[in-house]
Amino acid sequence: MNNKYITKNCTETQKIGSSLAGEILSLRPQKTAVVLALRGNLGAGKTTFLQGFAGDLGIKEKVNSPTFVILKRFKIYNLRFKNFYHIDCYRLHSPKEILDLGFKEIIANPKNIVAIEWPGIISKILPKKKISINFGHLEENRRSLLVKK
Ligand code: ADP
Ligand code: MG
Repeated sequence: MNNKYITKNCTETQKIGSSLAGEILSLRPQKTAVVLALRGNLGAGKTTFLQGFAGDLGIKEKVNSPTFVILKRFKIYNLRFKNFYHIDCYRLHSPKEILDLGFKEIIANPKNIVAIEWPGIISKILPKKKISINFGHLEENRRSLLVKK
């Protein structure tokens, strides 16, 4: 199923993130992690979207894109989901770097929700079943979001 949105500011982008998080929390139990692949240029709104998303998972800490961090784990206090992983592959040179951080185990665990920015370099090791979100930078404050589930 595809949904397309146009947002006019950060808050609108964050709201789409929070409503997707709400949907995921009410999914039927899955056998593996829920994986989100977020594509789009720098400044297109991927991290902003994830701030709204993480907020709805009950995460109080601010989600951002620190320069040196590839993978960050946040605890989730939910019956089904225990961890939210924010992965940013922007600075990755090969899939090995993320495999060394336990990527296979992370995406195999149904207690995890895993959001990946710049998934291109690891596309070969991404699960087939995932939610893809493509961000387009239309104007200064206008963004398009295409969500494929
Ligand atoms: P990315 O993670 O894709 O590189 P960020 O979410 O870090 O992008 O940055 C998006 C930037 O664009 C932020 O500075 C944000 O304030 C700005 N912005 C302006 N309009 C929007 C919008 N409609 N949606 C999301 N971000 C927006
Ligand atoms: Mg980002």
